[in-house]
Amino acid sequence: METEQLSMVSYKELQDQYEFDVFPKRDIVITKGKDALVWDVEGNEYVDCVAGIGVATIGHANDYVVKAVSEQAAKLITCPGIFYNDTKAELLEKLIEITPESLTRAFLTNSGTEAMEAAIKLTRLATGKTKFISTMKGFHGRTMGALSATHKADYREGFGPLVPGFSFVPYNNFEKMAAAVDEDTAGIILEPIQGEGGINIADEEYLRAVRKLCDEKNIILIIDEIQTGFCRTGKMFAIDHYGLQPDVMTLAKAIGGGFPVGAAVFSDKIEVAKGKHGTTYGGNPLACAAAKASIQFMLDNKLWVEAEEKGTYFRNKLDTIQSDKIRSIRNMGFMFGIELREKVQPYLLELMSKGVLALPAGKTVIRMLPPVPITYEQIDKTTDALKDILK
Ligand SMILES: *Cc1c(COP(=O)(O)O)cnc(C)c1O
Repeated sequence: METEQLSMVSYKELQDQYEFDVFPKRDIVITKGKDALVWDVEGNEYVDCVAGIGVATIGHANDYVVKAVSEQAAKLITCPGIFYNDTKAELLEKLIEITPESLTRAFLTNSGTEAMEAAIKLTRLATGKTKFISTMKGFHGRTMGALSATHKADYREGFGPLVPGFSFVPYNNFEKMAAAVDEDTAGIILEPIQGEGGINIADEEYLRAVRKLCDEKNIILIIDEIQTGFCRTGKMFAIDHYGLQPDVMTLAKAIGGGFPVGAAVFSDKIEVAKGKHGTTYGGNPLACAAAKASIQFMLDNKLWVEAEEKGTYFRNKLDTIQSDKIRSIRNMGFMFGIELREKVQPYLLELMSKGVLALPAGKTVIRMLPPVPITYEQIDKTTDALKDILK
C-alpha cells in the first residue's frame, strides 16, 4: 500500500473513513500543482481558480518558495519567539516596508484567524475598551474571537456563548456604523472587499468616513486583508487603492506562497506589555523563509501590475458572456465574483467537469481567485467554460 499508487477511490475511502471532516467535498484527489494548474491522481488537469482559497496567488510550486523552504528546512526549522532569528528579522523588515506607512511592527502567526485573535486581544489590551463593530456578510475566521466578529449565522450557530462585545452593521453604510459607536468601542473591523460574503467592494467615501470616525473617537481601525492582500486586487494591498492608513492590518492566505503564515501588523497606537500574548509556531524560520521568498517574487515581478492587467482581460472576456443567469459581475484586479440569479453549486461542479476549479462566495456567487501566473490561454479556457455552462 505504501509503494503502489492508490486510485482515486481508495484515497477517497481512506479520507472518508479517517478524517474528522468539516468540509463538503468535491470528488477529486489533487496530488500536484504548478503555477495556475493542478492535477488529480488520475492525471486530469485543472485551471485552479480556487488557488487554495486565495492562497496560491503566486502560483503552485513557485520556484522562489520551493528553493527558500528547501534551504531553510535543511538549516533551521524551528526557533521560538524568545530568541532572535535571521530569517525572521529579514521577513519583518520586508513586511513593514510593503505595508502602509502607519504600520510599524508585525506579530507573526500560522493562520488568518490567529492574526485576527491577536488584533482583537491586543486592541482590547492597548485601549482598555472592550467593544468591536464589524459588518454583516463579513468573514474573519473560525476561532472564538474571530468568529465573534463574523456575522454569518451558519458559522456561529451552536458555538455560543461567543465573545461578548461584538456588534454588526450593514457594509458600506456609514450612518449605521457611526450610530453603533459608543464610548466603549475599542475597534472597527473591516474587509476592504468582502471575500467570503460575495465580493462586495467598499466605497471610497465609506472607508474615508470610517477612518475619520476612528480618529475622532479614538477607535482602532482593523483592516482584514487576509484575502485581499498581496497583489490580489491589482495593488500590493486593497487599501492601497484608497490610500487608507489602518491602525492594524491582518494578513495570511497569499503571504507564504502556500505555506501557512499569518501576521497582525500594528501601528504605534497599539502598545502592550511583553508576556501578555504569544505563539509557539508563529514566525518559525520555515514560515518566514516562505513568506520572504513569496514577497520577493511579488516585488521582482511587480505581480500587482500583472494581476491588474490579467484582471482587466478576464473582466472583458466575462462581459462578453450573454446570459440571463448572471445578475452582476464584480471585481477588483484579479478577485472576481459572478453573481447568478440561482444557486451556484451545480455550476461549480459543471465547471470542474470542464477542467476549471472555482469557489462559491455565499449561495449565489461564483468566486474566482486565479493564480496570477495564469496564462492568457488558461484564462480563455476558464471564460469559455463559464460561457458554456451559463448559456
Ligand atoms: C480566510 C479568511 C480569514 C481566516 O483565515 P484562516 O487562515 O482560514 O484562519 C479571515 N478573514 C478573511 C477575510 C479571510 O478571507
